[in-house]
Amino acid sequence: MSNCLFCKIAAGEIPSNTVYEDEVCYAFHDIAPQAPTHFLVIPKAHIGSVSEVTADNSGTVAHIFEVIAKLAKEQNLESYRVVSNIGEQAGQSVFHLHFHVLSGRDMTWPPG
Ligand code: 5GP
Ligand code: ZN
Repeated sequence: MSNCLFCKIAAGEIPSNTVYEDEVCYAFHDIAPQAPTHFLVIPKAHIGSVSEVTADNSGTVAHIFEVIAKLAKEQNLESYRVVSNIGEQAGQSVFHLHFHVLSGRDMTWPPG
């Protein structure tokens, strides 16, 4: 999508601090970290949010979760939270699917 911030980040048109990259997904540090570890994992191909996941693109989402598990192991994250906000009321501000990976501090439940 031409006017999408995370499409531009995935394409390298806007700089970001890379955590991991392959043909399907891109992981990078959040610009405003909410925990000592806070990175985002996104599909390279545009998907608006979890609400746009279908049988045609769910393989990408499964792959992203494999990558999250691998990165968490590599970074020795013993406890972490994976979050995806869907819609403005839930806190989504960038409308390209992304999974927040947060770790390194106590977290409350339920979330605020
Ligand atoms: P959301 O609010 O949609 O769940 O998450 C969007 C996240 O993207 C936020 O945590 C925000 O800090 C992060 N973000 C927004 N713009 C940029 C940017 O230009 N670069 C990086 N690295 N993160 C960004
Ligand atoms: Zn996009």
